[in-house]
Parts: sequence; C-alpha cells; structure tokens
Amino acid sequence: MALLDQRTAVITGSAQGIGYAIAEALAAEGANIVIVDLDADAAGAAAARLNIGDRAAGVACNVADGADVEGVVRAAVDRFGSLDVFVNNAGITRDATMRKMTEQMFDEVIAVHLRGTWLGTRAASAVMREQEQGGSIVNISSISGKVGLLGQTNYSAAKAGILGLTKAAAKEVGFAGVRVNSVMPGLIRTPMTEGMREDILQTRLKEIALGRMGEAAEIAQAVLFMASDMSSYITGAVLEVTGGRHM
Ligand code: NAP
Repeated sequence: MALLDQRTAVITGSAQGIGYAIAEALAAEGANIVIVDLDADAAGAAAARLNIGDRAAGVACNVADGADVEGVVRAAVDRFGSLDVFVNNAGITRDATMRKMTEQMFDEVIAVHLRGTWLGTRAASAVMREQEQGGSIVNISSISGKVGLLGQTNYSAAKAGILGLTKAAAKEVGFAGVRVNSVMPGLIRTPMTEGMREDILQTRLKEIALGRMGEAAEIAQAVLFMASDMSSYITGAVLEVTGGRHM
C-alpha cells in the first residue's frame, strides 16, 4: 500500500517550484492533491500536469486572506471527503537592506509567509480535529530563519516566526493526533533562486557541506516523510534540508 492512500493533501503555492515537487511526491504515494496558487489558470494547469486524473484539483487562493484559506479547506473536503495533509509552502521574497526596504516590502513578506502559514495551520487543524483521524501540517521555513541573511530582515523574521508558530500549534492540537512540523530548506534550485547573481551563488555554495544546490524533489521527500505515518511520533520538529549549510 502507498504511504498516502485514501488521504487528501493541500499544498499552497504549488503551481511551480518546491510546492509542485511536493505535489508530485505526495501524488506518487497515492494522495488526492489540491494545488493552491494565486493564479487559477496556473493552479489548474499544474493539477492537470500531475497526470492523476480526478485525484487532483487546482484552486485559486491568496494565502494571506483568511476567507480564501477557509474556502480552500472547504473545497478539499467537499471534493475528496477529508483533509489529512496541509503544506504551507507559498512564498515570496522582497529582498533589500533595511536602508532600502519599505514598510510595504516588510508587510508583504510577513503577510504571505507568517500570516499565511498561521491561517493555513488554523484552518487545517480545525478540520483535522473535527475529523478525529489525526492529520499532518507541514510548514516550510528557510535557513534564512535560522541564521538571518543579509537583505532579508523581512523574510528571516517571517521564516523564524514560522518555527515558533509550528511549535505552539503542535502543543495546541497534539491531543487530537494532529502533528505540526517544519521543513527548513537551504539553497534550492527553483524559479525563486534562478535569478541569483553569480558571485552571490558562488559564495553561498562554499558554505554548503555537500557543495551544491538542492533540488525541489529533495525537499519534497522530506515533506513526504513529515506528511506520512513514517513520522508518526514527530511533532513540533524542524527538519533541516540544507546539504549541511549553517549546521
Ligand atoms: P516559487 O518558485 O517562487 O513558488 C512559490 C509559489 O507560491 C508561486 O507559485 C507563487 O505564485 C505562490 N504564491 C506567492 N504568493 C502567494 C499567495 N499570496 N497565495 C498563494 N500562492 C502564492 O518559490 P519556491 O522556491 O518554490 O519556494 C517555495 C517555498 O520554499 C517558499 O516558502 C520559500 O520561501 C521556501 N524556500 C525556498 C528556498 C529556495 O532556495 N528556493 C529556500 C528556502 C525556503 P506566483 O508565481 O503566481 O506568485
């Protein structure tokens, strides 16, 4: 039997990048998949690309909007009958040093990552508690939230905040068998990192024990572990998937 047979997984920000790789990995283990993204067409196209027929659906949603997030959770349950896995993955960057970062750049990043992850964790855990069959919520943080990266005071704050949120939520909903964990990627090859300046890339590669960027599929495997019963006694944990960067 596949690891996620009969289970339904929602992945935010999954029309591309790490989110799409997570959708592929969970789909390969039998899960019904709800691809969530800002753009309805992109979400629908990504759901079709998974090639699992009516086991996949695409839904438009802004993760910073509470009503949108509640709508996604309802749509998953209406369509597939349950919600078992919720991955808070959607993300943006608005990098600049503090001298140049505007309040808007700060607020946008906090809204998508921190508020979005809180909204997703709240909505998903409420349904999972009611279902009385447990569940797994996986929040995507970043190495930037562990060590702080120059030009990312907004992003580092949001990604560090996700770790506190994850642990507090794990304590609140553990009694119902709902687990809340975080996966912390390092430098991963995706559209988000494609435009990185060559000199910055070379500096960062020197910090990585394995000496290379990670692939989105390697983050997806860690999320699959946290999403499935392979991690049944793990909650409130942070799994670093960084190739040994900033250990
Ligand atoms: P990506 O390729 O830019 O994908 C992010 C996705 O999130 C995009 O499809 C984007 O849609 C969507 N999104 C943005 N704002 C949204 C919102 N308000 N509501 C719903 N969807 C939204 O990024 P990625 O590299 O795969 O990153 C995925 C996650 O991993 C993020 O949380 C990121 O911070 C984290 N991470 C990435 C790395 C890395 O090296 N790549 C490292 C550490 C952590 P649009 O394209 O339409 O905006």
